[in-house]
Amino acid sequence: MVQIAKGVFDILPHDPDQEGQWKQTYLWHYVENTIRSLTSLYGFSEIRTPIFEKTELFTRSIGETTDIVTKEMYTFEDKGKRLLTLRPEGTACVMRAFIEKNLQQLGSVHKLYYIAPMFRYERQQAGRYRQHHQFGVEAIGNSSYFQDAECILLLFALFKTLGIENLKLHLNTLGNAQDRAAYSKALYDYLKPHEKDLSEDSQYRLGKNTLRILDSKDLKDRTLLNKAPSIMDFVTREEQEHFEGVCSTLKTFKIPLVINPFLVRGIDYYNKTVFEITSESLGAQNALGGGGRYDGLLHSLGGADLPSFGFGAGLERIIQVLLAQGKTVPEKPMLDLYLIPVGDKAKQHCFALMQQLREEGFSIDMEMQDRKLQKSLKSAASKAIRFVGILGEEELNQNIIMLKEMAKNTQDQVPFANLSRRLKRA
Ligand code: AMP
Repeated sequence: MVQIAKGVFDILPHDPDQEGQWKQTYLWHYVENTIRSLTSLYGFSEIRTPIFEKTELFTRSIGETTDIVTKEMYTFEDKGKRLLTLRPEGTACVMRAFIEKNLQQLGSVHKLYYIAPMFRYERQQAGRYRQHHQFGVEAIGNSSYFQDAECILLLFALFKTLGIENLKLHLNTLGNAQDRAAYSKALYDYLKPHEKDLSEDSQYRLGKNTLRILDSKDLKDRTLLNKAPSIMDFVTREEQEHFEGVCSTLKTFKIPLVINPFLVRGIDYYNKTVFEITSESLGAQNALGGGGRYDGLLHSLGGADLPSFGFGAGLERIIQVLLAQGKTVPEKPMLDLYLIPVGDKAKQHCFALMQQLREEGFSIDMEMQDRKLQKSLKSAASKAIRFVGILGEEELNQNIIMLKEMAKNTQDQVPFANLSRRLKRA
């Protein structure tokens, strides 16, 4: 038997494993539907891009020295010898489509969202998958700090609607491109004399992607970083005001935030505001979502010089937190009626009845395999079904059906004419 590839998972109508509860389709529908109604309240429209793009798109935007580009991309050559990559993140793809379709002609501000699978060759561990799914937004064309705040508030609105609690919002600013470069140099100058005391990863990053060292969890790195120069001393007045605008707007809406000068995030194109939302209900991989501003990205990919803000949030982790916090989720969808015919004539009749009731809007299924009545009843009892209807020769002659109400474990005879009325939900 060929088994599933490493690091990926199936999303199923029903997952028999206790720890696989988050992989059930109805929970994904619930979260996705909530996202769709909230994004429309906030004026975002959906964009769908292909799951693969030319590799160059990602190397140019995410950054040649980032973990994603150096270690994690699923890159392959197709039969036409083109170098392609399965999308590891959504922003670059949206920017590519925006430029290619010249969407800027449609207005001054463009608010787009996506729900899409992402592919990263990650080391296998809890909370990290090689295919994961992100809800992401990209707001293009608006440099106001209200845009940053609006996107973050949208993500919090999602968590609030789902009932997710105890979240932490980490917020930082990286200043504009010049501030960021000046800070990166100062950090390099500070760390260089201590190079041999840094962890192996940080030694590799020094000079290549120095800011990422701020993310390090290594104890020795952390001790050194405690005395490192702070980004806040390199951020110009204008950028500080932008950042204060974001913070004060979020505070107005009672969003609990922590200013974290070590937050840089793993992608090169960020500047100004960056943020991450974490939950203690998750394990080591505790980030539910994150994002920030990337004002130069569109231009660097050949588009207009428009500012942008966006985020990505992982659906797997959102559903895992929902369940870990014991939140009420909708019930699994139930079939209204499962028909079990006894005999050929009844089978014909059941099939017609099934189609008629479906047209009336009821969800119906039926036994078609001539199994023994007891067997059909047993398999019906293990499924999410409201009523089971048994139809034999005798019932057929009397124009009635034997209706079992599964939750109450009762049964009675119902004339065909009354069946729809009985099936109606309260
Ligand atoms: P990133 O683009 O790395 O900032 O990721 C955005 C969000 O996607 C994270 O906060 C996670 O919730 C989720 N995420 C990223 N990578 C993975 C992964 N390998 N497996 C599961 N979720 C992920």
